Amino acid sequence: MQEDIVIIGAGQAGAQVAHSLRQGGFEGPLRLIGDEPHPPYQRPPLSKKFLAGEIGAEGLWLRPPAFYTTQNIDLIPDTRVAAIDRDAKRLKLESGDTLSYGKLVLATGTHARLVKLDGADKDGVVTLRSIADVDLIRDRLQATGRIVIVGAGYIGLEVAAVARALGKDVTVLEAQDRPMKRVVSQTVSDFFIRLHESHGVDLRLNTGIESLEGGDAVTGVKLQGGEVVPADLVLVAVGAEPNDRLAAEAGLEVDNGILVDGCGQTSDPDIHAAGDCTRFYSGRYQRSVRMESVQNAIDQAKAVAQSLVGQDVDYDPMPWFWSDQYDIKLQIAGLSEGYDDTRVVGSPDDHKFYVAYLQAGRLIAVDSINSPRSHMMARRVIGEIWRDDLLPAA
Ligand code: FAD
Repeated sequence: MQEDIVIIGAGQAGAQVAHSLRQGGFEGPLRLIGDEPHPPYQRPPLSKKFLAGEIGAEGLWLRPPAFYTTQNIDLIPDTRVAAIDRDAKRLKLESGDTLSYGKLVLATGTHARLVKLDGADKDGVVTLRSIADVDLIRDRLQATGRIVIVGAGYIGLEVAAVARALGKDVTVLEAQDRPMKRVVSQTVSDFFIRLHESHGVDLRLNTGIESLEGGDAVTGVKLQGGEVVPADLVLVAVGAEPNDRLAAEAGLEVDNGILVDGCGQTSDPDIHAAGDCTRFYSGRYQRSVRMESVQNAIDQAKAVAQSLVGQDVDYDPMPWFWSDQYDIKLQIAGLSEGYDDTRVVGSPDDHKFYVAYLQAGRLIAVDSINSPRSHMMARRVIGEIWRDDLLPAA
């Protein structure tokens, strides 16, 4: 009989591990434990179509709920794992129950980073990571007129776009001098500044926050310098942190993410990990990386499943990502960090262009705006052939 496998975290990566294990011929007992009440679902629409009310919760399910029954996957929702006893190979659940495992997979994702500010615990100060968060935000948005978004990253800007479409007053506060600074070039940032301003967003850069104002409920955001921006709802969207505490407390190697090798194996040979909660070495980019993307959650999960059924695997992905804001689709292929040169092809004024990022003459990433063909091409070039001569002339 095959050893039983338990997966902690019923999100994008956890569900994919389970699916791929069955596809790969694993017939043993398989449990998928998640602390949310829903079947595994996709998060990207949370800040896009789901927040806008264009799709309901069923539109988010990764697979129909019946899939788990037919695949003999024991999906255990609403259940939080509190601790891992590696010696006994046993999990302690928050309910006090215990559950043993033969092999364990951690797919615990991330949680929204919080801000350490006076008033951050007031009613109406929210983060966005789950269906429950969006249910709350949607209710509040309907009842209010003014939203302040702290952080001009993908999630903050996507919510700004949806809130403007709903006719709300939107202010975005960003501490850096341009939006999405960590991941895109000045050209792309400039494009998104103009885009949001043309839709009526009050986008404030280089802006520090002093405190969140109000009584029990938030009524405004006090900026450094004293101005108070009125707000009925404040979304804090300043990034995410890996859910790696469970692993750390169990004595696994952790460093801003659970450390795994190319098979997704942690420092314990009986425990693998996949998705946003992991950190691994990328030979392609010559450094350790932690990714927060659907691509990584799916592909790393597949690698983990392959490894668990005894196949050789060495996961080193060509990362890609996307963001939808208004009628603009930003698609990112590769990781641009460390670039020393860029080339812009097409015209930002036409809302259709791409930016190629080079490092020592080598193409490392491409951001495409409303240009899906260049995105697909970039994925092929960066992923497979790494040929600089496919770049357009400067
Ligand atoms: P998750 O999907 O977060 O799943 C982890 C699950 O584990 C969660 O359900 C969590 O509650 C559960 N869990 C954690 N600890 C425990 C425990 N102790 N016991 C039981 N369960 C536990 N990516 C893109 O590529 N493109 C996008 O446009 C995009 N947009 C996004 C928009 C939003 C609003 C968000 C939040 C994310 C977005 N992402 C996007 C990122 C993408 O959704 C994540 O990279 C992906 O969901 C990661 O999958 P995961 O399985 O690692 O983690």
